[in-house]
Amino acid sequence: MTIKYDVVIGLEVHVQLASKTKIFCGCPTTFGAVPNSQVCQICAGYPGTLPVLNARVFDLGMTAVLAIGGTVAKRVKFDRKNYFYPDLPKGYQISQYDLPLGSGGGVDIIGDDGKPRKINITRLHLEEDAGKLTHDARASFVDLNRAGVPLAEIVSEPEIKSSSEAYAYLTHLKAIVKAAGVSDADMEKGQLRCDANVSIRRSAADPFGTRVEIKNINSFKNVRAALDYEIARQIKAVEAGEAIVQETRQFDAAKGTTHSMRSKEQAHDYRYFPEPDLVPFIVETTEIEAVRSRLPELPAQKRERMMKQYGLTDYDARLLIENSGLVSVFENLAGRIAASQHKNLVNWLIGSVMAYANERAGEVEDMRIEENHIVIPTRPAVEILGIDSGDAGKPIRLSVDGFLEILSLIEKGAVSLKACREEVFPEWVKTGQPPSKIVEAKGLGQISDTGALESACDEVISKNPKSVEDYKAGKENALMFLVGQVMKASKGKANPNLVNELLKKKLK
Ligand SMILES: [Zn+2]
Repeated sequence: MTIKYDVVIGLEVHVQLASKTKIFCGCPTTFGAVPNSQVCQICAGYPGTLPVLNARVFDLGMTAVLAIGGTVAKRVKFDRKNYFYPDLPKGYQISQYDLPLGSGGGVDIIGDDGKPRKINITRLHLEEDAGKLTHDARASFVDLNRAGVPLAEIVSEPEIKSSSEAYAYLTHLKAIVKAAGVSDADMEKGQLRCDANVSIRRSAADPFGTRVEIKNINSFKNVRAALDYEIARQIKAVEAGEAIVQETRQFDAAKGTTHSMRSKEQAHDYRYFPEPDLVPFIVETTEIEAVRSRLPELPAQKRERMMKQYGLTDYDARLLIENSGLVSVFENLAGRIAASQHKNLVNWLIGSVMAYANERAGEVEDMRIEENHIVIPTRPAVEILGIDSGDAGKPIRLSVDGFLEILSLIEKGAVSLKACREEVFPEWVKTGQPPSKIVEAKGLGQISDTGALESACDEVISKNPKSVEDYKAGKENALMFLVGQVMKASKGKANPNLVNELLKKKLK
């Protein structure tokens, strides 16, 4: 017998705030600069230097708190978190301990049960990043370009119940901070990093077991893999009667496993104390309200507007708003077509266009409309496997006119959805020929001429009296059979929706 375990996950997400300069000095935060080229005495931790809080960073921090629906603290204070590490020359990190900038708020997800749920947020605090260590066979190197880069750490309540819910939480949190302009949240550039606390229990009546922390999970895919591995590891240990040790573990993406790094520190190990070089200060309510009034449209509001404006379902609206590129392309194209086609547009963007972009290493988040084309940048050639190198690194360009023609061909019933997906779309992206020409050349046209189909329907009805009787007696399946017969007679060319409609009318 397998015992069902309850899982509880809390996430700590570090978001790099979109400031061009560091949190306590004027050094730039440009990604990919030559090591140690963006360092001064302050961020290198020279004794006697004084940190000065960057007003723009503070503004972004308040924006982040309000964007997640939290409350900005009236009194702001920074603390020293003391620890030794070669990439931390000061021997401490300036962070916030007992008075975080923000508390409360939450992120709406669709839970594993299919229902919307709010994952509550405990706190959001500001802190500086540490430097970066790289190692090779000869030596270890310290790069302090990251030291002093502004971060907001967002801590969730332990209310996430599975790896897929953790994924949903991160996706939505990322969409919120991006929409609010707080962070570019590019995981590949280390602008969004995630630590997870995981524990399990046998049943709802038991207390949760010991928490294990997984550090620095650096991609959305790895969040799922790391949590799935860790949950399975804990269940196996408990089943074998072993105790779970409170510790910090690291995820090894190559092996798909977690391994122990160190026993987990307690807060008192860090000897937090108020940062004496930064005096506490009061935030005026008017200042907070000014930031609130500048908040742009956030994902939850956008979702509601899109449902109202475009007649989308909650589900479709959620899928779109998770991806800033998809939303912008959808909104651009939705204005050019009839409202009845909006659903079709969502399906094609999320289905065929996304699949095509993913195959070619396309950056769908940066997808946009440019010169009447859907343009999707792609990652450089080295990262692309199985694609002829001639195209690598070049953006994908799909003509808007061609794309809208595909939608209209389906709307008119001139071609079946299946043929369009499997034959017209692939040929169109390859050759750029007008979709209607492709339909013609491949002989994929559907008969949507009522006159031509009427006689075929009449014939099928007269040849299948038993099915007709069954349908009239309420057996829906019988209609499916009759539609099938007409399709067969037309050698698959008839428009099945139209046949369905005609038969229903005739059998009334
Ligand atoms: Zn500096």
